[in-house]
Amino acid sequence: MRVVDDYVEVDHREGTSRARCVVVAIPPALAIADIRFEPGLPDELADLAARTPVWMGAMTKVVAEYATPFWREHGLAGAAISYTGPLRELHDLSGPGGQSAALFGFAMPMAEPLARAAIVDQLVELFGEEARSPRALHVQDWRSERWTSPAHVEALGDYGTYADPSFRRAIHERVWLASTETGPDHAGHIEGALAAAELVGAAACAVLAHPS
Ligand SMILES: Cc1cc2nc3c(=O)[nH]c(=O)nc-3n(C[C@H](O)[C@H](O)[C@H](O)COP(=O)(O)OP(=O)(O)OC[C@H]3O[C@@H](n4cnc5c(N)ncnc54)[C@H](O)[C@@H]3O)c2cc1C
Repeated sequence: MRVVDDYVEVDHREGTSRARCVVVAIPPALAIADIRFEPGLPDELADLAARTPVWMGAMTKVVAEYATPFWREHGLAGAAISYTGPLRELHDLSGPGGQSAALFGFAMPMAEPLARAAIVDQLVELFGEEARSPRALHVQDWRSERWTSPAHVEALGDYGTYADPSFRRAIHERVWLASTETGPDHAGHIEGALAAAELVGAAACAVLAHPS
């Protein structure tokens, strides 16, 4: 991506696009890893972006599908916080009326791929023997999603960088970073992404309204 005089050129798979303003709407750490900025980002911003964790980007998410939400019949909410198995936080993911029936959980980043048997053992311990045979067990390690997380995303742990005011400043007057991690409030949530978009959208419109 090149800032040239009063416009920006963006090289991509299908060629080169030209715009007066560009909003880079991906997590800052991914932006700094995947995009070459010319001129480069200011050192302080580049460092901040590289250190900023991707929200949930290092987690593994597990969904276990069942024929029925059997746990409800036992008076269980299908929710748990656990420090003894691979899943740390679990919730009932069933649709309306319990169809389709599912439990989901988050696992912290681990060196080894998550063992399915360990997941099922934990579900059985928490919700009973009927949890032994899920119809399907989906395991998604978000570290491997290149459009969400940069390599070694699990090494990023300083959430104090979220919503840093430096993210709100224009880069070379016409490029902005805007993602949930930069949001002025609710950073990390969808509301944070919307807040970041509103802020940066207004700044970009101001530039467009006053051509140089
Ligand atoms: C596992 C997980 C669970 C989450 N759970 C919740 C939740 O329950 N509630 C909640 O509010 N938030 C949750 N989040 C955070 C959620 O991702 C954000 O709130 C929301 O999606 C952020 O929107 P965004 O626009 O900042 O980024 P994203 O939604 O990540 O959008 C960025 C887009 O840019 C694309 N992209 C990336 N790199 C490039 C590139 N080089 N060129 C072109 N396109 C590119 C990506 O494919 C993606 O479509 C979760 C995140 C993860 C990873």
